Amino acid sequence: MTRAFNFCAGPAVLPEEVLAWARNDLLDWQGRGLSVMEMSHRSDEFMGIAHQAEQDLRQLLAIPANYRVLFMQGGASSQFATVPLNLLSEGGHADYVDTGIWSQKGIAEGRRFGDVAEVASARDNGYTAVPDPDQWVLRPGADYLHITPNETIGGLAYPAIPDLGDCPLVADLSSAILSEPLDVSRFGLIYAGAQKNIGPAGLTLVIIREDLIKPMSDCTPAMMSYAIADKNGSMYNTPPTYAWYLAGLVFQWLKQHGGLQAMATLNQRKAGKLYGAIDNSDFYNNPIRPDCRSLMNVPFTLADESLNKAFLAGAEERRLLNLNGHRSVGGMRASIYNAMPEAGVDALIDYMADFEKERA
Ligand SMILES: *Cc1c(COP(=O)(O)O)cnc(C)c1O
Repeated sequence: MTRAFNFCAGPAVLPEEVLAWARNDLLDWQGRGLSVMEMSHRSDEFMGIAHQAEQDLRQLLAIPANYRVLFMQGGASSQFATVPLNLLSEGGHADYVDTGIWSQKGIAEGRRFGDVAEVASARDNGYTAVPDPDQWVLRPGADYLHITPNETIGGLAYPAIPDLGDCPLVADLSSAILSEPLDVSRFGLIYAGAQKNIGPAGLTLVIIREDLIKPMSDCTPAMMSYAIADKNGSMYNTPPTYAWYLAGLVFQWLKQHGGLQAMATLNQRKAGKLYGAIDNSDFYNNPIRPDCRSLMNVPFTLADESLNKAFLAGAEERRLLNLNGHRSVGGMRASIYNAMPEAGVDALIDYMADFEKERA
């Protein structure tokens, strides 16, 4: 068996070592005679797995003691509703910045629950750059400001986390979390669907500053209450135990491979090579302003779009999988998360050069 290089945006590649560990544990976890999937979530064994995963994540991200880590469900898309349901005060309002399709989905969902305004948008520059924070028209007294630091579909990323005073910053970090060190104390709340850079689908990570956890309002479903999740150790109901366990293995893998600083160095090298190959060719193009380019998701187009199918077919022959862009934008996209080996990026660059030579 040889594994292909999988450039899917999500569910995404997992580290091969993690999959091998999981395989070893699959039928019989550490001599207990059953798999993690078959354990009670309240057993000592699973509680140990869950606790270790949280401790390892706290260590990796240096999460301050006044932040809680919640292991929730429903994906980042559920958080689009969960955030306003928990953080919007009675008669309050929240500000959102639009940098692409995922922020737009968050804004549309937020508007169903209260006074949500778009206070800046990358629309004017065709979503090729994050609007300058100095130009944002923030409304005083907002309950929170919502940003999407890495737009997975457009490949647009914030060059830096904006400094906006006291307003709690809420970030959808689904496709960038764990790709580099992060100053968690700059945020009120961070959320991320697991299936990009954390583990399998089904798990949603929430990191929230303690003082933002408010008692549940009457119309908030219990499953969407941060207070309930926190009070019950993320086990108000049955959590996605196997995804939680696998996320824990990914955290151990990250620790063994030097933590987030080492990941950042590797991710910069991988992305640097790929953008370099795109920029050095007239055949491939990426429209994003260089300082706003995503390290994780690299969209690119071919000069001749009629060659898209041939490009994808040739890539698959070399076992470079899932390079098609999002269905809403077309073109190509290479997602190069932590678990994508540098050899995968090298193989893609070689293929791109060969294809250009043959077809351009
Ligand atoms: C993938 C993604 C989502 C949607 O995630 P689900 O877990 O499928 O709901 C939301 N925001 C961003 C930035 C994403 O990358």
